[in-house]
Amino acid sequence: MTVGLASHFAGVSLDPNDLKAQQKALDLVLQDFDVSAERMGAIVDQFNSEMRKGLAAPKATVAMIPSFVTGKPTGEETGRYLALDLGGTNLRVCEFSLLGQGEYKVHQQKYVISDELKTGDMRNLCDFIADCVDNFVTENGSDSLESNLQLGFTFSFPVLQTEINRGTLIQWTKGFNCTNAVGKDVVVLLQDAFLRKNVNVHIAALVNDTVGTLMAHAYKYPETSMGVILGTGTNAAYYEKLNSIKKWEGGAVAFDDMVVNMEWGAFDNERRVLPLTIYDNKLDRESINPRQQIFEKMISGMYLGEIARNALLQLVDRLLLFKGVSSPELNKQWCFETAYMSAISSDTSEDLEETQHILEAVMQIPSTSLMDREMVKQVCIAVGRRAARLSACGIAAVISQQGSIGQDTLVAIDGSVYEFYPNFENDMTQGLTDLFGEKDGSCVRFALARDGSGLGAAIIAMMSHKAAKLKAGSL
Ligand code: ADP
Ligand code: MG
Repeated sequence: MTVGLASHFAGVSLDPNDLKAQQKALDLVLQDFDVSAERMGAIVDQFNSEMRKGLAAPKATVAMIPSFVTGKPTGEETGRYLALDLGGTNLRVCEFSLLGQGEYKVHQQKYVISDELKTGDMRNLCDFIADCVDNFVTENGSDSLESNLQLGFTFSFPVLQTEINRGTLIQWTKGFNCTNAVGKDVVVLLQDAFLRKNVNVHIAALVNDTVGTLMAHAYKYPETSMGVILGTGTNAAYYEKLNSIKKWEGGAVAFDDMVVNMEWGAFDNERRVLPLTIYDNKLDRESINPRQQIFEKMISGMYLGEIARNALLQLVDRLLLFKGVSSPELNKQWCFETAYMSAISSDTSEDLEETQHILEAVMQIPSTSLMDREMVKQVCIAVGRRAARLSACGIAAVISQQGSIGQDTLVAIDGSVYEFYPNFENDMTQGLTDLFGEKDGSCVRFALARDGSGLGAAIIAMMSHKAAKLKAGSL
């Protein structure tokens, strides 16, 4: 794979041997990040086999957690529901007015969670959340509307769901580490805090963000069959036939399908098939969770910058980039942000000015040649393309498991990597074409469902509340 770099240097007097060595090294790095159609096929096969294991028994690498969400929204759902989103930097409290036909209105408020709360006692975090919800419903006037408000709780950490509104925390991730929470039911803990604080809100559903994203999009587009997150982390949820979920012990369900939260970030932790490079291995070794979330570490926004940084530093160390000179900024773990890669990958200016700005002004590299900048751009493009092609493998595995290759498929996606990384969607489509062929590959459509999980949680709370009322015979 040769990119025509030399053409940039017509008339520039540089040692041709240096250029040649740079070009050769770059080609090798780009090759490392290339995922052939054949390899993609092997990844999809492995994915399918891991998915079946996860559906058959608990504690599989790809956990395949039944979400207790059955049936699709009809678009006719109406009413006012609260949603709470915990899992990112901020806590979000929203009130959704579902208007039917996929339409809604939303009020929302963000609250900052201090590091002290993130790592303190879970009781303090729950009390804080209860205060935020209290503040929100009071300010919003929602408390005067209904005697008992129903809430959907988006909790984006690995949870073993035991009912639609019950689930045990398996482990914390993303900088949270509260004591007295792992192994406990997070809904019970939060509902207790509501009781302590006299907050008259009932938690009707516990929702993973992938499941919320799927349901939010299905509210307007019922044909949506899959929800994917491509943000800080990556994960997916999809409709699975209940009789294929062999490990299901929850008894009879009125629907044939249930949404399964795959927890696909852990795919191939055994390292059987993913095309890991030395740059990935270094990242993993230095991460806080080595040998875990291997798929996620090749795909999501938290990690892409670090993979690219490792690849660039390797070229620097061989004196083939920036004349062998780095900077304290570039030397710092996690400091090359994925957002910089987006900007660099889409820099089409002749002198690669934006790239120069990021490298010299932001990363403080003393000086860069045009060849340096072009090399950095090519590495960023390659790391992004690999992420998109691997995401396509996961999506293809789901479509194959659903038996719907060649049928129109709508995938709802949320996350900055999908939304902002240049060409990410095109590269995913190309990946699906490589796997399924031109015709079947083009049956798959992607749609941005920005921040969909809140709306999804409100819809699931509504569905859960309605089902509970039906069961109690009050409808
Ligand atoms: P979350 O997953 O927490 O809901 P986002 O979907 O916004 O949040 O994803 C945040 C991740 O996306 C971060 O890891 C960040 O590095 C990455 N990111 C932010 N901006 C961009 C961008 N312009 N291009 C690619 N990745 C980005
Ligand atoms: Mg998000």
